[in-house]
Order: sequence, then C-alpha cells, then structure tokens
Amino acid sequence: MINSILCYYRLTKLLNAIIKVPRIKEDFIMPRKVMEDTCIACGACAGECPVNAITVEDVSHIDPDTCIDCGSCQGVCPVDAIVEE
Ligand code: SF4
Ligand code: SF4
Repeated sequence: MINSILCYYRLTKLLNAIIKVPRIKEDFIMPRKVMEDTCIACGACAGECPVNAITVEDVSHIDPDTCIDCGSCQGVCPVDAIVEE
C-alpha cells in the first residue's frame, strides 16, 4: 500500500515537471528579433546561431520558436539590429 502511494506521488511529480517545461520556456526565454529597418543582411548573426534559428534573405529573420535566447547573434551584429522581444 505504502509503495503504491509512493509510486503515485513520484509519478505525479514527474508529470508535473514535464508539463512545466513549456511554461518555463515561455517565462524565461526571450527570443531575439531583428529590426528590419536597421538590418543590412550581412549574415553575421546566422553564422553565430547555435540552433540555426536565423534565416537571411532581404533582411534577417529569427524564428522565435527555435531561438534559445543565447544572445550570440546580438554580439556580432555590426549595426545593432537585434533586440530582445
Ligand atoms: S539569441 Fe542565440 S539562439 Fe536566438 S537567434 Fe540569436 S544566436 Fe540564435
Ligand atoms: S548581423 Fe545584424 S545586420 Fe547582419 S544580417 Fe544579422 S541582423 Fe542583419
């Protein structure tokens, strides 16, 4: 009986932890975005992104669902076109 209760308790904690992961991402990860008027499409940011969240065409675009908020792109932009959302 005690073992069943302990097992249920551990399972509940595990499920809670799994369910909370998307909320943690929403609460703490602030995806970067590109100010399109400022970007000169040099591509430097895309080369730095560790998760390939950036595509560069006429201007650079950051996929907010892929961005992990590392800030690497911001550090290399020559015209400070990347900001936090
Ligand atoms: S903040 Fe990091 S993960 Fe997000 S787009 Fe820039 S380099 Fe990629
Ligand atoms: S580094 Fe800056 S200027 Fe160059 S493509 Fe990225 S956002 Fe645009």
